[in-house]
Amino acid sequence: NADLAMYSAKNRGKARYEIFSPAMHNIAMKKLALENQLKRVISKKELVVYYQPIVALKNNLLVGFEALVRWQTSEQKLISPQDFIPLAENIGIIIDIDLWVLREACLQLRFWQEQGLINNPLSVAVNLSTKQFSQPDFIENIDNILAETGLEGQYLKLEITENVLIENAELTREIFKQLQQREIQICLDDFGTGYSSLSYLQNFPINKIKIDRSFISQMDDNDSNPAIVRAMMMIANELNIEVIAEGIETLTQLEFLHLLGCHYVQGYWFSPPQNREKIELWLESFSQN
Ligand code: C2E
Ligand code: CA
Ligand code: CA
Ligand code: CA
Repeated sequence: NADLAMYSAKNRGKARYEIFSPAMHNIAMKKLALENQLKRVISKKELVVYYQPIVALKNNLLVGFEALVRWQTSEQKLISPQDFIPLAENIGIIIDIDLWVLREACLQLRFWQEQGLINNPLSVAVNLSTKQFSQPDFIENIDNILAETGLEGQYLKLEITENVLIENAELTREIFKQLQQREIQICLDDFGTGYSSLSYLQNFPINKIKIDRSFISQMDDNDSNPAIVRAMMMIANELNIEVIAEGIETLTQLEFLHLLGCHYVQGYWFSPPQNREKIELWLESFSQN
């Protein structure tokens, strides 16, 4: 048996080696080219922010938007964040990308406020890479962006993943305190997909958790038991944390979430992420009724 294991391991190794030369080279070259392009996205003004509505389940009212970045290349191709955020994290440019998105989203919300397109306290939620939290000037950057755009902290929410809590617990705690002082809420994104234990929720001042789409899409067929989502809801309620469910695509999912007492929902069922112009048309159609 040991012989057999060694044999197959060797074989696998060999197979891997054979695959390497031509194909891997190609991939490496493409990656390098993409990296070089990525380094210039900001100076070339090739990033755009899309906005996805977030809705309160109890009254169907719009409560805000999530800002989601896209890369619009000079060839007018729209690249999804899934295809460039990981690379941007590797080369460190993610710090600048996130700050650019943050500034843009704050500016946009402030503009909509001033135009009277939105009046009730709508907020914008911005995604931050874990790396952002280890930047010594992070809070200073936040303050500058709020000052420059004129947006009040209470209208800004930051979406972070649980890695932030694990990797840098002490520093994170201090940053959270600073954010709280500015009334900026913290939302734990992709909840349930990571490795952190639920005790993290208790140890940090988290305002909201966002249940990942992977759990919501399992709630579709009638005989599936939404046990995990129900458990998350119970814990969140216990800790006085509000819950957002993302990726709602069907009425069945929506009804399940309603039944479970979920507070906020977001998904294609309501609207996909849209560019500024589309959101404005959408908001205008509301104010006319
Ligand atoms: P996320 O933060 O979990 O964002 C939710 C993703 O689910 C978005 O994908 C959104 O378009 C998609 N989505 C929303 N509703 C539905 C639905 O009903 N069905 C389906 N199939 N998908 C839905 P997107 O925009 O491609 O973003 C992917 C990920 O990229 C985000 O996941 C987030 O982790 C990251 N990302 C996006 N923008 C930024 C950013 O500015 N900074 C950082 N650091 N990460 C970002
Ligand atoms: Ca998010
Ligand atoms: Ca997610
Ligand atoms: Ca995410």
